[in-house]
Amino acid sequence: MDSRDTRLPSPVEANPRCPSCLSTDIRVHAASRKTGRIINECRVCGSHNLANPPTSEDLNESLDIDRDEFAAWTERTRTHVIERSHTATLQRLAGMLDSSSDLSLFDIGAGAGNFLSLARDAGFQPAGNDVSPGAVVLAKERYDIDMHLGDLSVIDDAGKHDAVTMWCVLAHVTDGDQLLSGALEILKPGGVLFLQTPRWSAMDTIGMRLSDLTRGRATRITDRRIAEHHMTLHSTASMRRKLERAGFEIVAIEPRARYSLTTSDYLESLGVPAALRNRLSRMIDTFVERDWFFRNVLDVYARKPS
Ligand SMILES: [Zn+2]
Repeated sequence: MDSRDTRLPSPVEANPRCPSCLSTDIRVHAASRKTGRIINECRVCGSHNLANPPTSEDLNESLDIDRDEFAAWTERTRTHVIERSHTATLQRLAGMLDSSSDLSLFDIGAGAGNFLSLARDAGFQPAGNDVSPGAVVLAKERYDIDMHLGDLSVIDDAGKHDAVTMWCVLAHVTDGDQLLSGALEILKPGGVLFLQTPRWSAMDTIGMRLSDLTRGRATRITDRRIAEHHMTLHSTASMRRKLERAGFEIVAIEPRARYSLTTSDYLESLGVPAALRNRLSRMIDTFVERDWFFRNVLDVYARKPS
C-alpha cells in the first residue's frame, strides 16, 4: 500500500492564518473521511474555512457550465424567496443612495440575470458579470441583459457604479480579499456594496461536533456546508474584519434564515431518504417562513468612503 495520503485535494498550510482577521490562532478539525476536506476554525473571529480548497484550474473547470446545465439549475431554486429578498434589497439600496441621478448597479456573479432584471425594473442601470458561459447566454435570452463573461479582471469600470452586489459569491472564491478590492474599485466614492454570504450557524456547530466526535465519519452536514462550493462560512465578527481590511465602512451585518434551494432538494443534498423528505420539508418550510430556522446567511451593507 502507498504510504502517502493522496485523498487530499491540495496541500494543507502548515501554519494556517485566518483569511478574515489574519489571526494564527486556528483550530484544525478532523478531515472528512468521505471527501478529505479539512475545516480550519478561527478562534478569534469565528470564521470557518476550507483548509484544502480546490486549485483555481479545478474551480474554473467546475464553473464552465453551459446554457442547458445552468437552466436546469435555476429550476431548482425557490423563486418566491429569492424574489422577495431581491426586491427588499433593491429598495434598501435605493434608500441609501442619492437617487437624483440615474443609478448604476453592477451584480458580480450575476447568474442568469434575474436580479439584474429586477434592478432594471426598480430604475437601476443594470450591469454584471459571470464566469459561467451558460449564465451569460441565459441573461441575454431571458432578460435581454448583456453581461461580461469572466471575473472582474476583464472589466474596466473603475469608480463607475453606485451599487455593487454579490449574491453568494464571496464564499465561492479562493481569494476573497481580491474580490472585495475589485468590488471597491468599481464603486463610486460613497457607493454601496451589498453581499449575501453563508453564515456559520447553530446547524454548523452541531455538524462540526458530530464530525469531531466520530473523527470525520459523520460529516453529512459539514460536507454539504463547507466544500468546493462554499469555502468560507462567516460570523458577524469575521465579516466585519474582512470588509474593514478591504477598506469599506460597515453599514449593517444581519444574520438571516434564507434557503434558496427548495427544501426538498436541500434535504436530498444532505442525503435524507425520500420517504422522510416530504413531511420534513413541510415542517421546515413553516419554520423558514416564520424566520425560526437556522440563520444560514449574512446580509451585508457597506459603503466605499467618499
Ligand atoms: Zn479570524
